[in-house]
Amino acid sequence: MKVTKIIMVLALLGLGANALAEPVVTFEEGTNQFEDASQANEHEYVLNPEEEERYYLEAQQKGDFDILNFKFPQEHWFECEDEVTGNFLNYKCASRRQISSILNDYLQKHVTGCVQEALDSVDGGTIEKLHIVHDGILGDKRHSPRSLHAENRAIDIRIFDVTTTEGVKKKYVYEDKKNRDFFLKFRTCWGHVISENNDCPIYAGTPHRTGSIGWEDKNHQHHMHTSVPYCVNGKYGNYFYQR
Ligand SMILES: [Zn+2]
Repeated sequence: MKVTKIIMVLALLGLGANALAEPVVTFEEGTNQFEDASQANEHEYVLNPEEEERYYLEAQQKGDFDILNFKFPQEHWFECEDEVTGNFLNYKCASRRQISSILNDYLQKHVTGCVQEALDSVDGGTIEKLHIVHDGILGDKRHSPRSLHAENRAIDIRIFDVTTTEGVKKKYVYEDKKNRDFFLKFRTCWGHVISENNDCPIYAGTPHRTGSIGWEDKNHQHHMHTSVPYCVNGKYGNYFYQR
């Protein structure tokens, strides 16, 4: 595989429609423009909690700055106590999990609104509390450097657990086909959020494929890949970081 050198230019965007400023990342010539961008996502490998812990630990011990140097600012998702809580499937909530600042911001500010829209379209109720069961955020950069997971900008969602203001608990499992309408509504809303707030074009003219990959892809039958793509001035900023 061709190694693509990446230069980081710390220019700030976001004075206009962008709610968030993020560094402009420029990619030197040499990026293979003919490779199918969707490949980067289809072959993603997202780490489980033990692998994730080892990944950061080993990188720190080895001083492996290449894989620790994220191009986009990072912070923590306090899964047990943030506004939107979460846990990796079959694990307890993590006291903190590394995540890109931009994905965390979108999770905390925009996910609930889109789940609410989806809820309105099926059985109604008002969300008091939202909890996300997921399949991970971090992808191993050494294996899939072009996936948004490599930058902690994507999360693989399995279940939305909703508690309504009336105290009713509802569970929306992504892989359960009876929830397709719910998740289609969610994805459509998310696509518009991504387009309007992150200056991204609607992907392939399809709102529900903007910032997410779902059942239309054979590798996404059990989880919904949900991301904040990298966009600059109304365009996808790189051929690979599109979904
Ligand atoms: Zn994913």
